[in-house]
Amino acid sequence: MKHLIDPTDLSLEETNDIIALAEDIIANRRKYAECCRGRKLATLFYEPSTRTRLSFTSAMMELGGNVIGFSDAKNSSVSKGETVQDTVRVINCFADIIAMRHSIEGAPLAATEVSRTPIINAGDGSHSHPTQTLTDLLTIKRELGHLDNLTIGFCGDLKFGRTVHSLIKAMSRYENVKVILIAPPELRLPSYIKTEVCDKCGIDYREVSDMESVMPELDILYMTRVQKERFLDEEEFDRVKDCFVLDAKKLAAAKSKMAVLHPLPRVNEILQEVDADPRAAYFRQVENGKFVRMALMLRLLEWAENDPTPSTSAFEGAVSEGHVCSNARCISNLEPVKPLFRESQTEPGVYRCVYCEAKAR
Ligand SMILES: [Zn+2]
Repeated sequence: MKHLIDPTDLSLEETNDIIALAEDIIANRRKYAECCRGRKLATLFYEPSTRTRLSFTSAMMELGGNVIGFSDAKNSSVSKGETVQDTVRVINCFADIIAMRHSIEGAPLAATEVSRTPIINAGDGSHSHPTQTLTDLLTIKRELGHLDNLTIGFCGDLKFGRTVHSLIKAMSRYENVKVILIAPPELRLPSYIKTEVCDKCGIDYREVSDMESVMPELDILYMTRVQKERFLDEEEFDRVKDCFVLDAKKLAAAKSKMAVLHPLPRVNEILQEVDADPRAAYFRQVENGKFVRMALMLRLLEWAENDPTPSTSAFEGAVSEGHVCSNARCISNLEPVKPLFRESQTEPGVYRCVYCEAKAR
């Protein structure tokens, strides 16, 4: 049985298979309308995220299945102090597959230790959000027709944006992908992503501080929100903010087949005048999210049926003695799960938490 906790839990072949299945679902909606008849998805949303929950819900409904769950921990027995693992043991009696959203990092992985049904991480804190990454991949595939030989510009908050980190990681598995990082100095991509992902996978990348100079090169422009709170100095924010706002004038220099993506919600980093441009793909991206979740749930249910043995590969070879996770928002510091660590492959002597990837202390 397989779970999806991090985008890299799926091999490149499995990822491509899910994208191809999503495209087949789009082309043949009727064929899939009864595929999950009698099946139940449980959406365990410990923190509210209405759009992600509705995307999962409508995905399961389009497959003919049903949905149970909660949209806020206040309305569940969690408010009585039940652990994530106990909640999952209970939900296993009611549902065939679980989508979990949690503010505690590593909570979905901890759930896989006890679960008898596949678990999908629907976002755990600032750690991982693999169905957003699958959504982005499907959108790029549909807009451009391929996932290799692309130049992708990431614009905005590259420091804290987990969708950006995950997508760079996912794109590093395709041939001849170039990355241009467009960000103010305060919000540049963290150096460990540069060394562990870009350098290790041989991704060609460069950093620039405005989008206009690179616009004609891009096949994809991935926009993110630049939040005022991220700046120590408000004047600095006011000085740089317009460099990271997409308007019709800047877009005029782009290729005619370029696509603009955004994980949404957008605030003002893409002006409304851009929405009518055929290159604005961010609302199509939302719909792709539903189709890719349909494909993902179909495959996870199929794999669980063929091999119901719970997978323990995430915990194999991990050690627990003498380490504590340095992340206060990690499940291993907040619930009674056994802390587990693995030595980093790129930093000898450094142990990283199995649940949230933070360093041990
Ligand atoms: Zn941790």
